[in-house]
Amino acid sequence: MNLDLDDRERAFRDEARAWLAEHVPASPLPNMDTAEGFEAHREWEAVLAAGRWSVVSWPAAYLGRDASLLEWVLFEEEYYRAGGPARVAQNGISLLAPILFEYGTPEQRERYLRPMADGTEIWAQAWSEPEAGSDLAALRATAARDEARGGWVLNGQKTWSSRAAFAHRGFGLFRSDPSARRHKGLTYFLFPLDAEGVTVRPIPKLDGHPGFAEIFFEDVFVPDADVLGAPGDGWRVAMSTAGNERGLSLRAPGRFCAAADRLLTLWKERGAGSAALGERVADAWIAAQAYRLYTFATLARIERGESVGADGSVNKIFWSELDVRLHETALALLGAEAELRGAGAPCDGAWMDGYLFALSGPIYAGTNEIQRNIVAERVLGLPRGDR
Ligand SMILES: Cc1cc2nc3c(=O)[nH]c(=O)nc-3n(C[C@H](O)[C@H](O)[C@H](O)COP(=O)(O)OP(=O)(O)OC[C@H]3O[C@@H](n4cnc5c(N)ncnc54)[C@H](O)[C@@H]3O)c2cc1C
Repeated sequence: MNLDLDDRERAFRDEARAWLAEHVPASPLPNMDTAEGFEAHREWEAVLAAGRWSVVSWPAAYLGRDASLLEWVLFEEEYYRAGGPARVAQNGISLLAPILFEYGTPEQRERYLRPMADGTEIWAQAWSEPEAGSDLAALRATAARDEARGGWVLNGQKTWSSRAAFAHRGFGLFRSDPSARRHKGLTYFLFPLDAEGVTVRPIPKLDGHPGFAEIFFEDVFVPDADVLGAPGDGWRVAMSTAGNERGLSLRAPGRFCAAADRLLTLWKERGAGSAALGERVADAWIAAQAYRLYTFATLARIERGESVGADGSVNKIFWSELDVRLHETALALLGAEAELRGAGAPCDGAWMDGYLFALSGPIYAGTNEIQRNIVAERVLGLPRGDR
């Protein structure tokens, strides 16, 4: 594969770099899992959208730039290198939007994509339930047909829904045909989080902020216009989202390459004297570069018309374990100072915050144990284990 950029790609990267240098906030925004931080991050989404940098790979009609997958990766590299804030609109943009483009009606695309792109409406993913995480097909929340009103009535509970504490809308799976087998009879719904009958109960993460919420549904009416894909076809629709989440769209390499570069700087400032720590820094930095190159190889395959399929699980295991390693190495370099918070804390406490979040990488988007089963069976062709 030729890794040299062509003129269009170079121009795109340079334009992104210049815009980000001018617009990325000089100091970090407050944590997005607080009411204040959530609003500050929404405002940032609006700034990004005004510059048409919030959804570069989308069509221009929906505030995008029709950018190629490679350009999107280049943008992400520039974004993280410039220290761009975490994206509060991410669940909508990377998990729901691809599904809206593939399965949504023209009306749904018209209604939802632009407010998603400019941060007016923030979406939460409502899939997991107390007894249905890894085994998603065990979900129990129901959707009952309401012919008279032309829609469905939702009941049940979802949990671990990121952003739901402050978000505006949710997308989720419900069992619409209790007589059908597990994966059948599920339907994919879009709904407002302030609808009558919806109760959102925030759950704090390790850092104490309400990064998640439980969502309770009590006779919540959703019209047919907000069914995504065909009724009963929710599993197939949802699995397209799962592929996006585990594969490329959630974790472009720019994020890890930028962290690896920051780790290298930290090592230069603090690491002298420990060869063992130096080796860990080098290993993490090399792994970030390897992930970048693997991503380019994946891009080349997609451009040749091949699908990523179960290889997305290799990606997911790799980026999530790399993220933990990068942060653990930084904490080892900082020693006891890594625990400091507030004024005077090294790097504003960002390595500890990043570490706490990195710990969740092997869990969300499908736990790594399950991803390893997928790799073993579908990529390596090993026999199915006992379960
Ligand atoms: C930071 C974060 C954000 C999240 N955001 C969202 C969100 O926005 N929306 C949403 O719907 N959900 C979200 N989740 C939930 C997430 O998808 C689930 O936690 C995940 O699917 C695992 O499900 P579980 O927690 O029920 O664990 P379980 O399924 O109960 O698994 C427990 C353990 O058993 C292992 N295990 C289970 N089955 C097998 C098997 N067959 N083989 C080997 N090992 C197995 C698992 O790997 C895991 O280690 C989020 C989670 C985190 C941590």
